[in-house]
Parts: sequence; C-alpha cells; structure tokens
Amino acid sequence: MSEKIIKEVGEINKEYNYFNEIPKDLEEHLVKGKLSGYFVSIKDCIVVKDMESRAGSKILSGYKPVFDAGVAEKIKKEGGIIIGKTAQDEFGFGSFSKNVGVDMKIPLNPFDRERCCGGSSGGSAGITQKALFKHISIAESTGGSIVCPASFCGVYGLCPTYGLVSRYGLMDYANSLDKIGPMAKNVEDIALALSVIAGYDERDSTSVKRDKEDYSQYLKRDIKGMKIGLIKEAFGEGVDEEVKKKINEKVKELEEKGAKVEEVSLPLNAKYSLAAYYIIAMSEASTNLAKFCGMRYGKHEKLEGGFNEYFSKVRSANFGVEAKRRIIIGTFARMSGFRDAYYIKSLKVRTKLIEEYKKMFERFDVLISPTMPVIAPKFSEIEKMTPLENYMMDILTVGPNLAGLPHMNIPVGFKEKMPIGLMVIGNHFDEGKLFQIGKELKR
Ligand code: GLN
Repeated sequence: MSEKIIKEVGEINKEYNYFNEIPKDLEEHLVKGKLSGYFVSIKDCIVVKDMESRAGSKILSGYKPVFDAGVAEKIKKEGGIIIGKTAQDEFGFGSFSKNVGVDMKIPLNPFDRERCCGGSSGGSAGITQKALFKHISIAESTGGSIVCPASFCGVYGLCPTYGLVSRYGLMDYANSLDKIGPMAKNVEDIALALSVIAGYDERDSTSVKRDKEDYSQYLKRDIKGMKIGLIKEAFGEGVDEEVKKKINEKVKELEEKGAKVEEVSLPLNAKYSLAAYYIIAMSEASTNLAKFCGMRYGKHEKLEGGFNEYFSKVRSANFGVEAKRRIIIGTFARMSGFRDAYYIKSLKVRTKLIEEYKKMFERFDVLISPTMPVIAPKFSEIEKMTPLENYMMDILTVGPNLAGLPHMNIPVGFKEKMPIGLMVIGNHFDEGKLFQIGKELKR
C-alpha cells in the first residue's frame, strides 16, 4: 500500500511540485490509532525527524532534524504515515507560494497550472486537492497561510486558536502569530485531525492548558438559532462580484437552515489590520532569521573574512528576494527612533483590533466573509503586482490571525472553474462552531 502511495505522490509531484521532500520508502500502517489508514503531508517548516526540513529555504538545505515536532509525534502515535514535506513560500513569506527558496520549484494550482496555489502553505493545499487516498495535510498560518491556499485550491483549511496546537518544532515566522492547523478534503477529517494535534505541550511556552476535546461531536449539531455576523467591509471595493454573490448565496442557505444573520461592521480591522500585521510580522521575522547565519544550521560557506563578511556572504547567497525585503523592513521598524512610531504603535493597534472582534463575539457565534477577495491569480498576473499589491491580497485574513481567532476556509463554489472559499471566524477556542457551519453547508 505505502509503496503505491509513494509512487502516486511522486507522479503528482512531477507535474505540480507539491513536495520539497518525499521519503524513499514508507512504513506500513502498523500503529493502531485515530489516524490508522491516513497518509499525512507536513509543511516544510514543521520538522520531521530524518526528513530534510527547510521551511522552503535554500539556507536550510541539507538540514535533517534529529527530532519530531510536537504535531509530528502525535500523528505518528495515532498511526498516521508521513508522506513528505510540502512546498511553501520561503519561511512563510507570501500569499502565492511563488516566493520559494532560490533552488526550489513553485507549486502549481491543481485546477489550472498557469495559476498559483495560494500561500504560504501552497503545497499542502495542492496535494490535499489532488490526493485520491485518505489524506490530511498539516499546515501553518501566520497571517492567512492556511485559509488562503485552501481557498485557491478548493479544500477545507483550519487555522486554530493561537496556543491550541503545540508549535514545538516549528521554524518560526513570527512567534506571536504562528499557528499550526490541518487541511483536508472534508470537514470530518479536519475535526479528526484537530482532535489529534490539539493539546497542551510544555515544550511550547505559548501552549494553552485545556482539557482535550473530541471535535467530531460538533458535526452532529445543527445550527438552529446560531447568530452569524456577516462582515460588511469584506463585500466592498476590490472584492470580485462573483465571489460576493456566492458567499451571499451560502449565507442565505444558512439562514434557511435556522441561523440568524445580521450585517456587522469592523471598521478598525478594515482600515488598520493589514498595516499592523505586516509591521509586526516582519519585525518578528527579521529577528527570527538572525539565527540563519551559516554557523549552526544548513548552508555553510567557506569560513573566511570577518564575522559580518561571512554572515553577509551566506545570507546573500541563500535567502530569496522576499526574505531579504522583510529583513530590511522588519529591522527598520524596530530600529531606535522608529520603534515607537511603527512596531510599538502596531502592537497598540493590535489590541484595539482584538477588542473590536471580542465585542462582536458578545453578540455573535461566528463571523463570515469571503476568504480571499479573488480566485487564484495567474502567474502572469502575479508578475505584474507590486509588493504592496501582493500584501493587499491578505486583507481579509490578517484580522483573525492578529487576534488569534480560529478561522476556517469552506469551499463553496467555482468561478471560471476555479474554487471560491468562504471564511468562518469563531471566538477563541470555539472551533466546534466552525465545524457546525462547515457540516451544514454540505448537508
Ligand atoms: N501572506 C502573509 C505573509 O506573507 C501570510 C503568510 C503566512 O501566514 N505564513 O505574511
């Protein structure tokens, strides 16, 4: 069985580039557990023992971790078989999986190879759509990297509450934002995967102590009386008309099934979330990347010259353009003289944005918007975008990420044969309600 799967994955990979690393051979399903019979792909930035793990970067080529990340341990313990490390934007820096490491291949959309998979967990979303065997992917989100590619590739993707899933063994992008979560072809597998990977881990200082839950129980509940807030600003300028239409249709369906829908406004989020997110994310990223200097991990160059000279040589040769851009912007935002105006101010804005969401959850069970403003763009269109236009793609997803709120992409239809995604956002630790909505839209 496993041999057949590896062959199949290899064939898909030749055409679509979803994996950076596929093991030569796999174990058979010997361990009996909740994931017996499942094959699991894992984003490159989450370490798996003895499998090259590079976070999509050339600077980590050759790095074979000597331990499993917390989530990888749990998957193996429950009988899941790991089939490889999925392609991503370098360290998570992107929304199209186009910013891959300088020696790596760009994953192509499963519906149209001229279009992107979304990012940064593009390989995870692509293989989730293409795999015909029982499969779950474990991805990561800092500002939308689970729901964005899930939307562009037409699969379910859940970004859980910050702190619910251990990040032990994750190569950080921005520590105050990073979350690990599952992707799958159906909401049942998402609930199953979360039940396996959620839970306290003392090796992650941000891990939250909570009782274990069986999330599958929520799939049996209906949505009668559930209060849904439809985010008004997410239906404004720049959002594709057909995307809006499809989301509205689906919300009507939920209303017919007994939910109460009201339009709500999140003006602060609409105006400030993108700027606050990019300043915080890049500030944290620029410090996180300091450890990749050719001394301990991955790529080494010939040791000569002063430390700064050596450091610059390694980093110039092995980081991609976007990583370099973020190091420069992030360092600038934290520099003395600018720190108060950018980094500290963004942290204050972040608190305000969280308050705005929290107020909403006093009145509503969940909030709904499109996941992405458009369908997956063509690579030829991406070429023409400026970095700012690129960042603006994340306008709908950065808010829940800044607030650490659980959010899930639900595939709801197509435009020009390309998938459209609906995003449902819940209050902290209310993942169950997202599953109720996900299930209802299928019933
Ligand atoms: N597109 C966003 C960024 O580039 C989000 C990436 C992510 O969540 N890893 O920062």
